[in-house]
Amino acid sequence: MKLIPLPAFSDNYIWLLHDQSHALVVDPGDAQPVLAALQKFNLQLQAILVTHHHPDHTGGVAALRQATGALVFGPEREAMPEPLTRLSDGARVQCLGLNLEVIEVPGHTSGHIAYYAEVPDQAPILFSGDTLFSGGCGRLFEGTPAQMLTSLKRLSALPDNTRICCAHEYTLSNLKFACAVEPDNDALKAYLASVQGLRAAKQPSLPSSLVLERQINPFLRTQRAAVVQAAQAIDASANDEVSVLAALRQWKNQFQ
Ligand code: ZN
Ligand code: FE
Repeated sequence: MKLIPLPAFSDNYIWLLHDQSHALVVDPGDAQPVLAALQKFNLQLQAILVTHHHPDHTGGVAALRQATGALVFGPEREAMPEPLTRLSDGARVQCLGLNLEVIEVPGHTSGHIAYYAEVPDQAPILFSGDTLFSGGCGRLFEGTPAQMLTSLKRLSALPDNTRICCAHEYTLSNLKFACAVEPDNDALKAYLASVQGLRAAKQPSLPSSLVLERQINPFLRTQRAAVVQAAQAIDASANDEVSVLAALRQWKNQFQ
């Protein structure tokens, strides 16, 4: 099974997973890079998986469905281009011999879903959309800090070696913020240096892994003393995990 991030727009990735003959894609905001990859690798597109309703994740769905006849899957609770199969928590998608599990992760949008799959002889895969990024999390456009915290905790409970496939190349700016939160985190400093190298060479920083994210992503570390302290320097009343996450998210929104 091959996993490829197709760059789109300025910083999106459309994830392509294939077995040399059949493929699925996640969040095709643009059809063109997907059609080019299908042709290049001689693949038949079987399924289009969508995590949430934002146009940079859905813009290419209709054209791809028309060009390939692929089935479209998306969240139960969001306005989506029809036709599609709507999925709620615990639903399964069978594709490429895989059994992808749907995890509802509201916060960025109110009905956002993620897809998790175990892959024979490989590390598991999580398509986390705009919920969990490497070093960060999505902005809270529709959901609450409490919802995002619950969503991130569910994702963080997946196996250590889970490959984190998020929909944007935001890693470098997330890690600069993470270093402001935890200036003494050595794993974070080492990861920042390695991502700077990758980005200088125009390579994707992704996929990340869950075991790494738990060490470096402040939004998965809202129980850690150093993170709580940093959040309290921004908002003195941040004394539980939800308010720590809210303070971090607020701080990140303004961070340059
Ligand atoms: Zn989004
Ligand atoms: Fe997005």
